[in-house]
Amino acid sequence: MSLQIDEATLKNVVEDVLKQLSQSGGSAPVAKSTDCGCKKKSKGRDGVFQDAGEAAEAASYAQKELRKQGIAGRAKVIDIVKRTCAEKADEWGLLEFNETKIGRLEHKVAKLQGIPSVPGVEWLMPRGMSGDHGITMEENTPFGVVGGITPVTHSIPTLSCNIISMVAAGNSVVFNAHPGGAKCAAEAVRYYNRLIKAELGIENLVTIIETPTLESFDALCKSPHVDILCVTGGPGVVNAAMKSGKRSICAGPGNPPVVIDESANLRKAARDILFGAAFDNNLLCIGEKQIFVLDKVYGAFLQAFKEAGAVQISDNQLSRLSESVFTYKQDGGGCSHPVLNRDLVGADATRLAEVAGATCPSGTELLFAETDVDNPFVMEEQMMPMLPIVRVSDIEEAIELSVKSEHGYKHSSMIHTLNVEHMGMMARALDSTLFVKNGSCLAGLGNGGEGYGSYSIATTTGEGITTPDTFTRRRRCVLVDNLQMY
Ligand code: NAD
Repeated sequence: MSLQIDEATLKNVVEDVLKQLSQSGGSAPVAKSTDCGCKKKSKGRDGVFQDAGEAAEAASYAQKELRKQGIAGRAKVIDIVKRTCAEKADEWGLLEFNETKIGRLEHKVAKLQGIPSVPGVEWLMPRGMSGDHGITMEENTPFGVVGGITPVTHSIPTLSCNIISMVAAGNSVVFNAHPGGAKCAAEAVRYYNRLIKAELGIENLVTIIETPTLESFDALCKSPHVDILCVTGGPGVVNAAMKSGKRSICAGPGNPPVVIDESANLRKAARDILFGAAFDNNLLCIGEKQIFVLDKVYGAFLQAFKEAGAVQISDNQLSRLSESVFTYKQDGGGCSHPVLNRDLVGADATRLAEVAGATCPSGTELLFAETDVDNPFVMEEQMMPMLPIVRVSDIEEAIELSVKSEHGYKHSSMIHTLNVEHMGMMARALDSTLFVKNGSCLAGLGNGGEGYGSYSIATTTGEGITTPDTFTRRRRCVLVDNLQMY
């Protein structure tokens, strides 16, 4: 039997192949069309899609393929992600830094180097029960496809951490990254998919929308292929996800307060706060954002903070900086609210000093200013290396103002004290997911304290520090009146 192909069809096929090769830089393997049961040809390459619906559909097909390879298959994917982050930390850190233009290069690299501390398949623990009525097993099973929304502040780290937690649980993922960090996120997805395809033979286990928009977010919310959302971001996206009708795990905003009482080791507290708040120019949601210092040790702490390397700016300089950092918007009721200027988010302390009209030595990592509690630097999540310091009369006032400035996000808080009563009072009043005593905020995620890593702290919806468990459904398998061995 001979196959007849007319010239026009042949031309179309050649053009299609050339287009695929040029899109993949000529080096990537050409992705086969995935059979998703709809006979529609997938337009994705190595997990990167233009269309949100197609990205979700391809991830759904891949999840079923992953299932066939069991927990050993998931473990291979986790190994690929951890290995790659360790090996490519320098390269990808630079890629993300050049694209997002926020934060500090060395800390972009450090965040990727921290990915191997995220728990994998070993985290999942089935629970068995045995009794007179037989045996029961409860297992952690996958949802299916997770729709992952990632922030610009940690684009590749959040994506990589999410893949580990979600795939360890047996899910596949479709990402809508922040537009400001979408290119580096897509590059990581391409790279992971090539390795996953080579080692497991599965395509599109992790997919991403190449040009993410609010519409593509909306399409993921509406897609029948997306079983659950995991949102890591600020209040806007958290609200949008909660209203979407899709079940959402929301790792929302924070504004972590720090309290320093009269028993604190002031020099250590100063060094710890400088380390945490200056890390990646204070882009971390867990980062120290405002400090409440008891009157008795106020002057001594300011001195210790300067000795640690923080540079003080004056009232006038703070006013000048505030004019650039915040604009004011009227709400419906005629009240005026500060809005953060994104241009200065994650800027270097030296640039902030310049805007404030201050001078500081080159290499300065952190600025601070004395303020009252109502200053927008206290009440807003400013995400830049300028910490407001508020003088308070006693521990009760320190905790009361900490609660006020944290806005009930239940995210993170810190205290420096040797007084266990004060620790307990603050723990109960703040009710925060991470509560660090006598350490930097980073100790809350295993950097300087005990614990594992995670880049999505599900504060708003209450799941807490996300792990593989977070992305599972606990299901029960019951055998009645038999198989007990006693
Ligand atoms: P962002 O809210 O601007 O963006 C986060 C993601 O949501 C992005 O992908 C963005 O494109 C999308 N988005 C924003 N508004 C949206 C809307 N209305 N509808 C649909 N999608 C929308 O936040 P960011 O600047 O990228 O990241 C910083 C914020 O994220 C801070 O508030 C920080 O505290 C928070 N964060 C929280 C955690 C956590 O674990 N809880 C971790 C990192 C960052």
